[in-house]
Amino acid sequence: MITAFFDKLRAYTSSSGSPPPLSTDSGAIAELQDYLEKLDAAGRLAWASRQFGNRAAIGTSFQGAGIVAMHLVKQAKLRIPVFTLDTGLHFIETIELKAELQEHLGITIENITPAFTLEQQASEFGPELWKHDPDLCCQIRKVLPLQEKLTSLDCWITGVRREQSDNRSSARVLELNEDENGRQLWKLNPLVDWTRNQIWEHIRQHNLPYNRLHDQGYRSIGCHTCTRAVADGTNERAGRWTGFNKTECGIHTFLKVKN
Ligand code: SF4
Repeated sequence: MITAFFDKLRAYTSSSGSPPPLSTDSGAIAELQDYLEKLDAAGRLAWASRQFGNRAAIGTSFQGAGIVAMHLVKQAKLRIPVFTLDTGLHFIETIELKAELQEHLGITIENITPAFTLEQQASEFGPELWKHDPDLCCQIRKVLPLQEKLTSLDCWITGVRREQSDNRSSARVLELNEDENGRQLWKLNPLVDWTRNQIWEHIRQHNLPYNRLHDQGYRSIGCHTCTRAVADGTNERAGRWTGFNKTECGIHTFLKVKN
């Protein structure tokens, strides 16, 4: 039995090898990207945990990929913190899901809140800002709080998948980003190559809690003010900001991808 264990261990280490060193040199990044592409999602998360410790964190809005990432972390007994951007405008189902996940996975999910309450925002910019300037609303309630949170991290772990939209189709498993002040930040997309079907298969197979709104035709779920149910087969980001030429809230576009 012990021999079989060591055979498996040898097979694993020879197939995965040691990771190339982390470096901001573009050739070294390409080598690391190739290495991480060949690992499975759990291996990618384990790499981030070893490399960055608690300066790597999962940011989630409780879509399927975020749920899978949190579960993989739990299964692999990794200690990767989790945070969410609490806009104050989430569906009650999303708020309940957060509580369920915390209990089910035995974790604490940090709430990151905007500097302005909804009342302060209305008094400063007018009521229901999302109806006339959703970009500004997302900037206040999501992008600025995230930017502040990211100053405490070296690696932001996301649920971005290539299949989600045209904008995301070229996402890499690991990207080096730079903000407007020149600060560099790694972004790990451990489920970048997973399909929607794979995500849901994993959730069902492990009986994980998920947002019940998915059973009512909602695909990608954000604030209740800007999310609609959509028909099957449409783009996963359809149903967000209906009536506006907007498919991203800005949290995945304010950073410049360097490599
Ligand atoms: S999704 Fe809508 S309500 Fe939520 S922050 Fe963006 S514009 Fe505002």
